Amino acid sequence: MKKILALLLTLTMLMTVCVTGSADGQNENTYGAYKHVFIIGIDGAGTFFEKDYMTEFHRIFDNGAVKYGARTETKTDSGPNWTSILTGVSYFKHGAENGVVSGTQERVFKKYPSIFSVVHDAMPDAELASIVNWGAVNIGIVEDEIGVTEISIGPDDATVEAIVNYFNEGHSPALFFTQLDEVDAAGHGFGSSSAEYEKAMKEADERIGIIYDCLEENGLLEDGLFIVTADHGHKETGGHGRFSKLESYSTIAVAGKTVVSGGSMDNDVKLRDIAAISLYALGVEPTEWSFTARVPGNLFKDVSGQTRPYYRDIIDFICGGIMWIYTNLGHPLDEFF
Ligand SMILES: [Zn+2]
Repeated sequence: MKKILALLLTLTMLMTVCVTGSADGQNENTYGAYKHVFIIGIDGAGTFFEKDYMTEFHRIFDNGAVKYGARTETKTDSGPNWTSILTGVSYFKHGAENGVVSGTQERVFKKYPSIFSVVHDAMPDAELASIVNWGAVNIGIVEDEIGVTEISIGPDDATVEAIVNYFNEGHSPALFFTQLDEVDAAGHGFGSSSAEYEKAMKEADERIGIIYDCLEENGLLEDGLFIVTADHGHKETGGHGRFSKLESYSTIAVAGKTVVSGGSMDNDVKLRDIAAISLYALGVEPTEWSFTARVPGNLFKDVSGQTRPYYRDIIDFICGGIMWIYTNLGHPLDEFF
């Protein structure tokens, strides 16, 4: 067993060297060009941001870069996707189902640090905040021990009120995340082809505008990167979790001083890439080995697009399989190492 492990480690190191050597897309001008990253998550909104009635969204991102075909994780639920967005790790690796994220007061998969934790390690004095409607994000994804301002409050109007109060108090976080929940509720209740869903999208649009204007009034957008996204979409008749286009395609919209105006990003854009985009903007390197997010091309000026380290998923898969067989043969896991 030790020989297999040694072989895998050697293979891993070789591949790391190869990929490091060929990494592209790093550029001094855009890397670390921001003091703040704001991620606004509209649960269950999928690609419906492209509708003409999303007037605030289009006002903000007319000069930004928008990808309507960003791919969710293979399971199109909230827990898997918010976890990947905030860790840069695939669902296949972290395995965080809704129940895992919301069902425990402990962060059971703390093995995969959130980008809050990565930013905190690089900038211990930086302010960080997560103000959400779906409290599970603050239970299962955001670490409690690193000084993040964590507020879980609904309905969405109350969430936005808490956000506006937070910024009007003069806070200036390096990384900010919010999740609004009512589009998802309308999707579950009535389906994405319903008038109720459209009404919820329009209300979400207004709330995006309120948050954006609040940041602008507080002078935080000059050096701020503003991102809007959704964890998954909804079937016409409502519901998500599987592979249909309406469920598994989503949106990443990015606005900021170094963003390509009208950029549509390149192919192979995944929601988890928001983790890479955020860290890149702040000039912070990811630390988790299983991080398979990348900065897409045609997003930041002068950045051609990073290579996704798919080989890590493959090695994780092989290692996981060997460990599974080994432990199922009755050996304790610590014997493996
Ligand atoms: Zn969701």
